Amino acid sequence: MQNSSNLLLDIRDLEVSYGAIKALRKVSLQVMPGELVCLIGANGAGKSTLLKSIAGLLPSQGSIHFSGQCIRSQPAHSLVSQGLALVPEGRGIFGEMSVFENLQMGAYHRHDKAGIKQDIEHAYSLFPRLAERQQQPAGTLSGGEQQMVAIARALMSKPRLLLLDEPSMGLAPLLVKKILEVIATINSEGVSVLLVEQNANAALSLASRGYVMEHGEITLQDSAQNLLHNPAVKDAYLGG
Ligand code: ATP
Repeated sequence: MQNSSNLLLDIRDLEVSYGAIKALRKVSLQVMPGELVCLIGANGAGKSTLLKSIAGLLPSQGSIHFSGQCIRSQPAHSLVSQGLALVPEGRGIFGEMSVFENLQMGAYHRHDKAGIKQDIEHAYSLFPRLAERQQQPAGTLSGGEQQMVAIARALMSKPRLLLLDEPSMGLAPLLVKKILEVIATINSEGVSVLLVEQNANAALSLASRGYVMEHGEITLQDSAQNLLHNPAVKDAYLGG
């Protein structure tokens, strides 16, 4: 793998513990500019822990570089303004606020009013359903619509790297397809993506590379095509 300065995200030997439980062990993972990389693994493997540590929400040991800068131990809000956005599992939207207000909140650190307006329009073009429901309290939206708000809100921070934690969780198959298509569009517009997905088949079909995590360790990394055809991956994650 290339040296840190050519990489957008470069994680080396990352370790995270919850008290006596070691959730991440010597995790190394890289994302190159423009890439869509997926991370798959069983429940409890440590995928959310990894995304939260990258986003500055958990203390960790080891190194995390973003665009060549050491970001480990930096607070989450500072990482957002540097171009790193997390869409957490469970979404974390503001239920009492309207869709429009949620999108505005995503741009809280920005002052370019015209750019913000333009980006809200762009979010509505990616998710026309949100344009129809812009004044509706986000908490009253369906699960799929709430996921759209969470992704659209993250885009409002103008990320260079989007961390997505199981965006298709709990959604009907048609909506899963729609959300994953929009993620591919976002990536084609220049936003790099690190995607955690239970839906391994769909995720590997979108990604250029993938990592497999088991019990807090990266056990496999390869091109997405090779992982899709790897017998061990097929057995464990792709339904045989
Ligand atoms: P899932 O696919 O089910 O979301 P995951 O791969 O994202 O799983 P994590 O949520 O990162 O896994 O959890 C990794 C391990 O750390 C699990 O054993 C989990 O029980 C443990 N863990 C996670 N959060 C905490 C916490 N706040 N306190 C203690 N242990 C935790």
